[in-house]
Amino acid sequence: MVSKLYFGIISASLSARCDALFAASLGRITVFPGDDAYDESRNTFYSQGNHNLELNCNVQPTTIKKVSQVIKILGSSSDLTNWDIGVRSGGHSDWNNNAVYRGVSIDLSKFNQVELTTYSGIPWKQAIEWTGRSAITDVVARIRPATHWGDVITYLEPYGVSVTGGRSGHVGVGGLLVAGGASYNIQQWRLSCDNVVNYEVVLANGNVVQANRFVNGDLFKVLKGGGNNLGIVTRFDMRTFTVPPQGAYGGLAFSPFSSIDANIDSGPPGHQFLVYRYDGPKGGYGLMNMMVSTDGKNNSSNFADFGSKIPLSIVQSISDAGGSYYHSATLSIQPSEAMLQKSAEILQTLVDAAQKAGSTATFNFVHQPLPKMLASVNPGGNILGLDQTLRTNQVLFEARATTPAADGAAKNAIMDSLLLKAVEELRQFSASQPNHSTYVYMNYASPTQNVLESYGASNVAYLRRVAGKYDPTGFFQTRVPGGWKIGRF
Ligand SMILES: Cc1cc2nc3c(=O)[nH]c(=O)nc-3n(C[C@H](O)[C@H](O)[C@H](O)COP(=O)(O)OP(=O)(O)OC[C@H]3O[C@@H](n4cnc5c(N)ncnc54)[C@H](O)[C@@H]3O)c2cc1C
Repeated sequence: MVSKLYFGIISASLSARCDALFAASLGRITVFPGDDAYDESRNTFYSQGNHNLELNCNVQPTTIKKVSQVIKILGSSSDLTNWDIGVRSGGHSDWNNNAVYRGVSIDLSKFNQVELTTYSGIPWKQAIEWTGRSAITDVVARIRPATHWGDVITYLEPYGVSVTGGRSGHVGVGGLLVAGGASYNIQQWRLSCDNVVNYEVVLANGNVVQANRFVNGDLFKVLKGGGNNLGIVTRFDMRTFTVPPQGAYGGLAFSPFSSIDANIDSGPPGHQFLVYRYDGPKGGYGLMNMMVSTDGKNNSSNFADFGSKIPLSIVQSISDAGGSYYHSATLSIQPSEAMLQKSAEILQTLVDAAQKAGSTATFNFVHQPLPKMLASVNPGGNILGLDQTLRTNQVLFEARATTPAADGAAKNAIMDSLLLKAVEELRQFSASQPNHSTYVYMNYASPTQNVLESYGASNVAYLRRVAGKYDPTGFFQTRVPGGWKIGRF
């Protein structure tokens, strides 16, 4: 759609880059403030902060050729004025690493398809038989980056297969996979990124390349955790595994905070999440256990508390479209009673401090498995450095605060600082105990946490070398500032 405003209000000096896209016949995929498609795109960011960002224009490529053209045009700019580029897939990030202020947003939302093929690319349309145990298949899921995980899992289910995707249906594919990815199948089939067998990537010079074990192997490795330092991924090919025909089963069990000792001591067998919640003055404190059985055993004793069993595709299709402000920070902590007790204590101190500061925030302290086998099954296969930091089983800890859309910058800044203080206290406690891990998971981290440094010096050096090889002009370091950048330290 041609912009209503382009020929009117927006001056060439404010949007020289957008002018260049227009001049190159990309006007049909470039939208401006005032266009319906511009508002639709902005409103689908998860974080309220990004709903408010004002862009010069938003370009929504429909083909890989167009992504390449866009990158070539923006990359060849000699315009030295202060403008930036944001790259977004699902837009589900908690903060503005996927957006820009007064710049150009490359919005991949039209890249939202999934198909099953053989490894040689022949479309696959048959259901694969369940033999009683989940097994890797010979078919791959070719997934475009802005597909939501709920749609991916729902598409795959009739074929009897699945992938290591995100657990909330609305989360996007692109951001989760370039960072790592924790799924329901993490204990069996590892991190989500370890299941990507091929990437299709548009590089800084606009060239489209494949990266896999055989071609561009260095790029293949660093895309597994390297974030948006390397290029724009336009397709992820993931290996698939069989799932039982009756689906995986799972659900949530809620209990009062007073039952915390029982939850920490034993917990329901097989649970994957233990969440401490504070739901505001009315909801108060509570505990939530998420339990999932991925092997089709719907009579598992895990589910004794549930009246009915829900197939996982339904659980994943539950959308969380966001619209508030989110504050998050993460750690790897030891799976000990002392750590879990300390985490509960710190949550209560944090809630008290937030209330004193006049905040109406709600909080989740999420504890989920980070098994040590992630380090050994694929040594050197990704850039995360888990062989150095994950020598024992750990808990992936995430502290989250949600503040209302009406909260202004000052209140949000206070919340950021309170949350970081709380997480730092827990980190110090963890560091004082045996088997402390320094790994920081990119997708749960605060923008101020040292994610790339946590991969270890040799991985940082390798990432820097590979980023320099595939992006010698530093386009993704300087023009795409969102996220953790290897060029920043
Ligand atoms: C409710 C909720 C549930 C979640 N559940 C999980 C979960 O189960 N497991 C888990 O691991 N994480 C989970 N997350 C975190 C989630 O992985 C991140 O928010 C992730 O970034 C979302 O992906 P996206 O495509 O929506 O990212 P976006 O917000 O679009 O992008 C995030 C970052 O990735 C970069 N990026 C995006 N697409 C590309 C691409 N194609 N090429 C290069 N760079 C790209 C962007 O530039 C940006 O820096 C959850 C988050 C929320 C809010």
